[in-house]
Amino acid sequence: MATISFKTIPINNSTVTSAARLGELAISSIPKIIETPAAMLYVRSGVVPDVTYDFVPDNVTRLLEIPLGSLVESMNNLENAESYANFARLVDPIYCPFHDSLVEVRPGGNGNLFSSLWTKSGRKELNIDRFKKLIQLVQPTMYETMFDGDTPFDKTTDKRFTKDRERSRRFLEHSLENQAISSNLIIPLVGGHDKRHRQLYLTEILRLLPTYEKNIFGISFEGIHAYGPSTEHINLDAIKFVIEETKSKLNEHPNLLYTMPLLWRPDNVIRGIDLGLDLFSGAYIPYISDRFVILTFQYNKDMPSTSTRTDYNINAKEYFNGKQALLTNCECYACKNYTQSYVYHLIQTKELLGRTLITIHNLYHYHGFFQEIRKNLRNNTWNEYRIMILEQYAPSQQK
Ligand SMILES: [Zn+2]
Repeated sequence: MATISFKTIPINNSTVTSAARLGELAISSIPKIIETPAAMLYVRSGVVPDVTYDFVPDNVTRLLEIPLGSLVESMNNLENAESYANFARLVDPIYCPFHDSLVEVRPGGNGNLFSSLWTKSGRKELNIDRFKKLIQLVQPTMYETMFDGDTPFDKTTDKRFTKDRERSRRFLEHSLENQAISSNLIIPLVGGHDKRHRQLYLTEILRLLPTYEKNIFGISFEGIHAYGPSTEHINLDAIKFVIEETKSKLNEHPNLLYTMPLLWRPDNVIRGIDLGLDLFSGAYIPYISDRFVILTFQYNKDMPSTSTRTDYNINAKEYFNGKQALLTNCECYACKNYTQSYVYHLIQTKELLGRTLITIHNLYHYHGFFQEIRKNLRNNTWNEYRIMILEQYAPSQQK
């Protein structure tokens, strides 16, 4: 496995209570440092949905997010190639979250010796040996350890919470104790919405941290939602306390990387950064692109605000004769070369190129947004910037 290191730079911003921070992720297998906060590039079955690597815009952070669920079905093919990178011919660093942000996780799929992954074709059980094998085959740059996390809000009993902690802890120890897969771990912090159980689990993790400081690379906030489409509209303010309290207890470890799986709508990205998260799932882009949604929110104050909308659906009759680009003045390949009516026509005739052009634009827009986020954090203009984004999503109430 590649060696990785993460260094954080706190932000001085006296006008807003925010845990926002900048970070630098150095990975031995690539020459360039990855700056955070950053969105990852979501990959399924070895490819970015609907786009070939050549057409991924240059401003996209080349850190691949490959959920284990999308791999478990191709395990046999993987066994014939030496590693996933060989199999899919990938050169960029890989993070493997356990679950897929695009697919809903249903309750009741876990046992004492296994956890379930949910894929497009249903539930796949993964016991600790298969989990280990999969990680060895994929050889991710970093990965999230197996966990339970089946703790739906308002429906979880005390007994279930205890099982959740016991199993997640056992799975974690299995990763820590197996030398072949014991580096660069992201630890899922479980305990649902229950303050006491989250605290109990965190205490166990804090006890492990000194011994395994070299193995544990970051923290992922888990057990808070059930993944899938509903997370696009999650109310982050309502679960803020869960994250804030945990993070305050981890203050002595400033260089742990923080992440959380979610369909990260842009205004929630701002809230996530205020909570001090460093790495964001990129699953929002294939999610909206699949639905023909074009991002148009103003992420840069120099961008002419050509529309009052944050996004729109190109699969609407009004674009039949649209002579403009998907977004006027956008510098992406799709916008510089094609019109709305052309993309509309491609969708109507079910040509894959339609989704490709939509994805190119959305990737460019979303990752351009993250570039601006980092710039504003660096320049101490975070407070103005966050208000500019939040106001577009909920005019005049979200300051
Ligand atoms: Zn564009």
